[in-house]
Amino acid sequence: MQQLPPDARVLLICHVNPDGDALGSMLGFGLGLRRLGVRRMQATFPGPPEVPEPLKGLPGLDLLVPATEAYSDPDLVVCFDAASESRLGDLVDRLESAGTALVLDHHASNTGFGRVNLVDPHAAATSVVAEELLARLDVPLDAGIAECLYVALSTDTGSFRFEATTPAVHQLAARLLATGIRPGDISRRVFDTRPFGAVKLFGEVLGRARLEPAAAAGHGLVWTYATLDDLARHGQRPSVLEALIDSVRCTAEADVSCVVKQTAAGEWAVSMRSKGAVDVSRVAVALGGGGHRFAAGFTGRGTADEVVDRIRAELDGALTGTARG
Ligand code: AMP
Ligand code: MN
Ligand code: MN
Repeated sequence: MQQLPPDARVLLICHVNPDGDALGSMLGFGLGLRRLGVRRMQATFPGPPEVPEPLKGLPGLDLLVPATEAYSDPDLVVCFDAASESRLGDLVDRLESAGTALVLDHHASNTGFGRVNLVDPHAAATSVVAEELLARLDVPLDAGIAECLYVALSTDTGSFRFEATTPAVHQLAARLLATGIRPGDISRRVFDTRPFGAVKLFGEVLGRARLEPAAAAGHGLVWTYATLDDLARHGQRPSVLEALIDSVRCTAEADVSCVVKQTAAGEWAVSMRSKGAVDVSRVAVALGGGGHRFAAGFTGRGTADEVVDRIRAELDGALTGTARG
């Protein structure tokens, strides 16, 4: 990276439907490269160039360009938080056209699709890997970089509540906070702010949640769904539903939780979570998606009921295949 010619064109890409880790690690790393003197740089992600409302305050958003305007043959492409090429959508061709491709990620299922792959399945977030690389490049943390990486780290650790929250995670958080960023303001904006229409929408969608204590070999399943019509009636954008799983997964009686979110006619983005008894990434991978042991997802087709039928069947299969039975 330090040998990059000054006029090199660098393209940063994160996964489709970017979350806090995808955008935060990408923009934080981009701001770091800017400090190294990289001038010709774009950041992008596949699909509509819409940043979810909670992430609209991220520093470095000026790096973003729509996927349609991204360099067609960059000198360097760097991918963030994507376990496989399929998460790069139409931008996958840049892996071929770029001079070289670097992958920064933390999914155990990462396929190693870059020329150089910095993948740490033990890292709590891709931002951990990004910060390590910035440190190796002698880029000092400033408040802009730190805020991006903090959003990424706090998103993927569930605000420092999940199992991946190691001493090293808190040490990284301490280094980031030492730049003067304001965790209260950041958390309120990223996690605790939504339009009243979204509050009403959540009420309706949570009101139709189903609990199936016998599913997942008795570990229990709780699920709900939201349609495009639900969104339209409440005047909300699809990204407001990202937070819904956090309300559903509270359910004491179920190890597995699931939200089925319509993205088009007959197409659903599925979010799954587990409290520990079930490896939901196995279910997601079996249904064409991916993720982590306790947080995974896939694209479902058909009706919401058909999608949930498939999940139920895979949950039983996944459990009979494990020692937990
Ligand atoms: P989400 O429920 O969207 O927050 O996603 C949880 C985890 O599942 C993330 O770590 C994603 O990387 C992964 N994931 C979600 N959707 C997909 C998908 N369609 N394909 C592969 N991985 C996915
Ligand atoms: Mn992600
Ligand atoms: Mn991540």
